[in-house]
Amino acid sequence: MSKRTSRKSMDYIKEEYIKTRTMPANWYLSSYKFKFNITHMQPFLEKLKQKKLVGLQCSSCNRIYFPPRQVCGKCLVKPDRWVDLRETGKVASYTVTYLKDPETGKVIERPIVCAQLDGADTSYPTQLNPDIEFKDTYIGMPIKIHWAEDIQGGLMDIEYFDAIEDDAKDLNKTK
Ligand SMILES: [Zn+2]
Repeated sequence: MSKRTSRKSMDYIKEEYIKTRTMPANWYLSSYKFKFNITHMQPFLEKLKQKKLVGLQCSSCNRIYFPPRQVCGKCLVKPDRWVDLRETGKVASYTVTYLKDPETGKVIERPIVCAQLDGADTSYPTQLNPDIEFKDTYIGMPIKIHWAEDIQGGLMDIEYFDAIEDDAKDLNKTK
């Protein structure tokens, strides 16, 4: 018997609690205010303004986060070391999206990729050059940043990724 089935067959024991008090009430989720702290991203955003890329490294596990994260998902400590990154990377994973062309009404098949920059340990969802078709996209595809014309110091400064030459000749399988 596998571990999984044995775990599944275990009976779930629900603890009984004595109900102390019940009150009729409503819970308005819309009344909550959420704050997204981006102070840890300031050096990253400043660098983007100069078309430079930095990742945030965790000094505990050496993981490099791009985009930077406030807390290392592995060690639960604050990554605190900025490291320079290149404009190149690879497609870590991808999927397809179907968008309707507003003019022709035709459905367009477009890839959405998770791009991992060279030197970074994480990837983030972004777009490829609109000329690249879904069928031509693959995991490990070498890519390079295409900067937006109007640089504002935000992740949108990276408009999309261009495909660059794949020199991994061993991947070209002969038919
Ligand atoms: Zn860590």
